[in-house]
Amino acid sequence: MYDDNNIFARILRGEIPCKKVHEDDHTLAFEDINPKAPVHTLVIPKGKYVSATDFAEKATDAEIAALMRAVRKVAALKGVDASGYRLIANTGVEGGQEVPHLHIHVLGGRTLGAMVPSK
Ligand code: 5GP
Repeated sequence: MYDDNNIFARILRGEIPCKKVHEDDHTLAFEDINPKAPVHTLVIPKGKYVSATDFAEKATDAEIAALMRAVRKVAALKGVDASGYRLIANTGVEGGQEVPHLHIHVLGGRTLGAMVPSK
């Protein structure tokens, strides 16, 4: 069940400000409020999708294509497409997802190290 009052829904409605990086018909990209790397941008679909699972099940092909194209655009705009970057879509409880609206983290600007911290 999608929560219309999650923080990214409120950003999409313009109720909460964000530092916009890119926008198109299907997506919005903005800077993470608590960056974990020199580049840390979030790319979200405008549609109401809770998670990567929900998105893969219900989104249209156009929405799915737009999200990946937006990620690639953000990598270029942030200047990390040549140096490399990491995409993360935390999904569900064990995936560590905090905001229940699908978002892809685009991280870069330095060597990022291990993919997952050891216990
Ligand atoms: P998650 O843990 O769900 O994968 O990531 C949620 C991300 O959203 C975190 O990196 C957090 O810093 C970011 N975030 C939470 N609240 C806000 C907000 O109000 N504005 C922005 N720009 N980012 C936020």
